[in-house]
Amino acid sequence: MAMEKPAEAQTHFGNLVWVNTKMDALRESECLCMNCELFKPNTDGHCRIAAAGYALCRLTNISFAVTRCPAFIPKAP
Ligand code: SF4
Repeated sequence: MAMEKPAEAQTHFGNLVWVNTKMDALRESECLCMNCELFKPNTDGHCRIAAAGYALCRLTNISFAVTRCPAFIPKAP
């Protein structure tokens, strides 16, 4: 199985990266972290799993959406 569109070269935070634009467009709304009660960046109560993921993203210039997590708690509507 292949991607619908080829990856696109873009500059993010001053670095040239390859982007799956379809996945990237969904990240903000569909990532479990963005919809989780435990996602509280810059607070003492922030999720340690999400913090570790973010540290990896910072270190390697990657980005990902979490699609599976054993600790997910849906945000109240
Ligand atoms: S518990 Fe899972 S879904 Fe929620 S913020 Fe942490 S890593 Fe993301």
